[in-house]
Amino acid sequence: MKYSFSKRVQSVESSVVREILKLTQGKSIISFAGGLPADEWFPVDAMRVAAERVFNQGPQALQYGLTEGVTALRESISQRMAANRNIHADVNEILVTSGSQQALDLYVRALLDPGDVVLVEDPTYLACLQVLGMNEARVIPVESDDFGMLPDDLEQKLKQYNPKFVYVVPTFSNPTGRVWSLERREALLRLCREQETLILEDDPYGDISFTSNKVPTIASLEGKQADRIVAYTSTFSKTVAPGLRTGWVVADKRIINMMAKVKQSSDLHSSVLDQLILVEMLNPAVFNIDDHIHKLAAVYKERMETMAAELKNDLWKNARWNLPQGGMFFWVELPEGLHADSLLKCAVEKGVAFVPGKPFYASEAKRNTLRLNYSFAEPSVIRTGMSRLSEAVSEFTARSSD
Ligand code: PMP
Repeated sequence: MKYSFSKRVQSVESSVVREILKLTQGKSIISFAGGLPADEWFPVDAMRVAAERVFNQGPQALQYGLTEGVTALRESISQRMAANRNIHADVNEILVTSGSQQALDLYVRALLDPGDVVLVEDPTYLACLQVLGMNEARVIPVESDDFGMLPDDLEQKLKQYNPKFVYVVPTFSNPTGRVWSLERREALLRLCREQETLILEDDPYGDISFTSNKVPTIASLEGKQADRIVAYTSTFSKTVAPGLRTGWVVADKRIINMMAKVKQSSDLHSSVLDQLILVEMLNPAVFNIDDHIHKLAAVYKERMETMAAELKNDLWKNARWNLPQGGMFFWVELPEGLHADSLLKCAVEKGVAFVPGKPFYASEAKRNTLRLNYSFAEPSVIRTGMSRLSEAVSEFTARSSD
């Protein structure tokens, strides 16, 4: 039997990160590849108490629920976003999704026809590129530097392509760890307003901040107004646990309603049990989530600094890398001509893995780039992994210059 899969599915490659995760499973390989949170910091005890409280309320946690999400959770999200992000949204402007990944998918499916243009940073979040590919978008990268998209290139491409929307990860981005400056955020908003182009702001890492400097979200710069152009999505994956698969999106009510329609056809609603547990986890009598986030940021900062210390090793002196102010990733540029995908093979032989930069690019990739995750492994493991990786780099560099 020859199965004839859709062109759409065949044209999109499976996530490289997932492939690498498969490769490393069950082996004693130290992986800096996945974007995994530190599992020893999952609030298991509080979650047990929260679940107990949910089951004590009766069987409703196991019943079908509203597509838009559990109302009490949407209320808590609305309050937290007002307090922490200066984003003001009514409950009916919030849709609970199965992770922010689903928010990206629903947004794209609600708005895009095949061939419609979407502007993105380059490199950008690879699983969003997958969603765009699955939906036959025409993806156009905008030139970017360490402060965000370059306004001149953005303006020119907005005019040339009349895109449906611009997708950005402006705070501690995946993969670059970059934080857009306030000026670039304002420029994006102004230019998109002028062209009546929508913006999708993806902010899963905003809470994981290593400094007290807070750059406002693009959604908060726009404020609460009629005909909003910004849709904002975030998640409990990095602050509580990704296994709960719970994220949310805030947008104009008309967009939320259309996304809810798509969601109905996809999964009816996200898990009521997970949502009710989160309602309890956001109840200060059960769990202090702000305190937890604070601790988590301190743990990740230490891990980031451990990895940074290793990258300062002489072997890396010709590489360029950012010093993350938050989030979970280093983005490394090796000297020109050193291909990260070939380095990966050598690294896996040494017992360490990372993700080559190639799949994050919407245009021609810089093959000498790679992403390193520092949130998952403990400092001693980071040191061992980095020493293996440095060895691989050293051998690889010597081999490449033979
Ligand atoms: N957006 C970005 C930029 C991400 O890095 C991730 C997680 N890897 C997601 C969205 C999806 O996260 P989740 O579905 O777990 O909320």
